[in-house]
This record gives sequence, structure tokens and C-alpha cells, in this order.
Amino acid sequence: MDNHTGFDFRGNIRDALGNSQLRKNLKFAMTALAEKRRAIFTDKARFEEMRTTVNAIRKRSLSKLPELLDRLEKKCTENGIIVHWAETTAEANDTVLSIVKQHGATAVVKGKSMVSEEMHLNRFLLGNQVEPIETDLGEFIIQLADETPSHIIVPAIHKNRGEVGKLFSEKIPGTPYTDVPEELTEIARAELRRKYYETPVGISGVNMAVAETGTLCLVENEGNGRMCTTAPDVHIAIMGLEKVVENLTDVPPILRLLTGSATGQLITTYFNMITSPRKAGEKDGPKEVHLVILDNGRSDILADPELRQTLLCIRCGTCLNHCPVYVRIGGHAYHYTYPGPIGEILTPQMEGLETAGTLTTASSLCNACSEVCPAMIPIPDLIRRLRNESYDTGGSVKGHGYKANPLEKVIWKGWELVNRHPGLNALSTKMAGVFGPVLPKAGPLKAWTRVRNRPTFAKKSLHELVKEEGVSDE
Ligand code: SF4
Repeated sequence: MDNHTGFDFRGNIRDALGNSQLRKNLKFAMTALAEKRRAIFTDKARFEEMRTTVNAIRKRSLSKLPELLDRLEKKCTENGIIVHWAETTAEANDTVLSIVKQHGATAVVKGKSMVSEEMHLNRFLLGNQVEPIETDLGEFIIQLADETPSHIIVPAIHKNRGEVGKLFSEKIPGTPYTDVPEELTEIARAELRRKYYETPVGISGVNMAVAETGTLCLVENEGNGRMCTTAPDVHIAIMGLEKVVENLTDVPPILRLLTGSATGQLITTYFNMITSPRKAGEKDGPKEVHLVILDNGRSDILADPELRQTLLCIRCGTCLNHCPVYVRIGGHAYHYTYPGPIGEILTPQMEGLETAGTLTTASSLCNACSEVCPAMIPIPDLIRRLRNESYDTGGSVKGHGYKANPLEKVIWKGWELVNRHPGLNALSTKMAGVFGPVLPKAGPLKAWTRVRNRPTFAKKSLHELVKEEGVSDE
């Protein structure tokens, strides 16, 4: 158990690496997703152009975020959408519950929403005698398995079709085993279809909210999002406050890169634009639409000029698919809602470094995430910044300096002194040659060398060797 984090990240990693079926499933799925993305962005120069545009749109949105949120609220209210603000996940949960209770609902149908995962909304609703029914196929699978999503786009990516077939046959009464994807989808469809009509409240996420028009955009492939937002009488949309964009013209460039990066699609099967509840004379659509806008630490992230780049994210998930760490350990090892590279920069800022700072260690800083990120987030730079903040008692991120260690500070000061003075450097190199073989047998170096080879120090320094050869080293 990590003393600072309250969860055993190393233990989780060990378990994941030891699970050969999980590794096989991840390798298969991640390779397919990365290949699909590669096939759609064949023109590198064009991709750079497109992501430069998306980066500029997202940066502009963040630079005027308070103003855009005000405009969004005003426009939504004019359109008949009821807007609620929540500073914390607890407030957001209470808001959702109070709407659900006002309508006497004992169940809700839900489309995929990572913000609702961040709120642990399902657990909260269940604790308040409301049944959440997940309708996205991946979310439906993990709800049956009593698990959490392991990927922000493909929640059940850690399971293969055989495992899903076994789960369905065990958990859905009267269901024979099958591992045929079409048959599995049909089983889920049959289970879910009537629930859209029986349940008075539908909940969804929001991919983009347009301040100019008060439009809530929802990107999905299965049609369940459309059913959740149209069949029930009440629709509750939940979004993180960074999801706002200024104009309708900002939507297509983001949508294009979002779908291409996430699933290698030119466009998703469904793209929903919700601008009001059902109007007089319209045959379908909810009678009431609510928008819950959640902060949960995002305002603090926005306040830092470097770290605010975290909020450029459009949640495409491609950084996960290209991360050599995520691809091997999967999402559950990260313990928190957002795994992989985006989780490594977002979660420690939301939860505090002392709680989740250890996530920043799960990166080799190979830069693969930043090369594919459609929002051009310099993820490795932000990871480095958060790692530094973990040691910096004068930092600004919540929980900064939690790893500060006076002994380590003295050691680094000593290292600096030695390397600034050639005489001291020469002396320490000599000493390393003499004491090198002994040191790893005692103190902290003993643990370090348990799984690593002891570095051997040369008997003579380069300067000495050069001198012996009669060459001037000046
Ligand atoms: S950080 Fe970039 S690559 Fe990762 S989910 Fe966000 S937008 Fe996608």
C-alpha cells in the first residue's frame, strides 16, 4: 500500500501484469483501435493542421470560459432548458436526485457519461433507492459485472466476447451462452428497449455545449443516447464546465477529430444536438430538459496558465490507446475514473497530489500521447510539472510537496556542490570507485539494487585516462 495515496497502485500494476487474459484482451483491442485511427489520419500534415485548429478553438473557449458559461446559461434558459450549477460532485448528485424525486422516478436510463462516473452517480442513486440502468452496451456489460469502466470511450475493453457471453448467460435469466457479437448486442437490446419507455427520467453526458445557441451536443454510436434523451419525459444532461465552446462553427472541427481519434470513424452513427424540450405540436422529445454543470476542481485547474491545458481535452481516449503503460495494465489499475495519460494529469489535480500523485509515475515520458492528442495537450510536460510539484513545498497544486524529503534535499544539494567544483568531482569519482562495491549492501541502496544491477565505477576517470595518453584535456 502506498502511504500517501490510499490505494495500492504498485499492487494493482503487479496484478494486471500477472493477468495473462487481460493482457491478451488489451493487446487485441488496443492494436485494433490504434490501427483504425492510423488508417483515417494518413495525411500527417493535414492532421497537424486539423489539430492546430482544434487546439485554437479549445484555447479560445478556455480563455473566455466564465463569459461563455454565462452566455450558455442565458441561451439555454431562453430555450427552456433549466440550468443547475454544482461546485462539487456531491452537489451535482443532490441536484440529479432532487429532479428524479420530483418526478417520482425509482429508476433512470443512462447514456454513457464520464462525468457521471466522476460523480459516482450510480452508487449514489442506488443508495437513494433509485435504480440506474446503463444503456450503452459497454456500460451495460460492466454494470452487469459490477465493475467500473476501464477506458473512457470503450468501458468494457478489458473483456473479450467469450467473457461477455458468459456474463450474459449467468446474469440475464434465460439467456443461453453465445459469443457472437450480433447476438450479444441483440440480447442487450431486448433487455433495454422497453426500459426507455417505462422510465420517466433519462440521463446523458455532453460532448460540447454551444454558448451561441444553447445547444447540447452528444456523440454516440448506438442510438441509446438518442433514446435516453428523447423517450423519457425528463432529460438530465451532465457536463464538466470546460465542455463549452463559443460558436456552432466550432463544433465540426472538434467532432471530426473526436470521432477519428476515438474510434477511427469519419463520423459517428448518431450526433445529437439538443436545444430545447419538446415544443408545442412536436410529437416526441422530453417535456423537461435540465443541464447540470459541474466544477469539481476545474476552476482551480483553469487558474494555472500551464496546467489549464489539461482542460483542452475532448475525451477521445486515444492517448490511452497509444500509452505503453496503459496498454499493458488497463484502466482498473489506475483506480480512479480517468485512467491513462489524461488521468495522470487530471486526477492528481482534482483529488490532490497527496492522494493521487502516484499516478504521475505511470509514464515513461515517451511522448506518444502528446503526438496523437487531437487537442495538442503537452501531456509529458504536465506530468513532469506535477512530479516536480510533488516535491515542491512552494508549489501551487493541491497536495504539493507531499513527497518533500529533507534527506533527499541534502543529497541533491551535495550532488550540485560536487558537480560545480572540479576538485570535489574528481575526489568523489575516486571515492565511488573505492566504496561503490560496498554501498549497495547497506541503507536505501540495498532495496534499489534488489531488482537492478549495481552500477560499476571506472577505476580511472576519463580525465585521468586522457592525461595518461598525453593529450591535453583543456
Ligand atoms: S488528452 Fe488528448 S488524447 Fe487524451 S483523451 Fe484528451 S484529447 Fe484525447
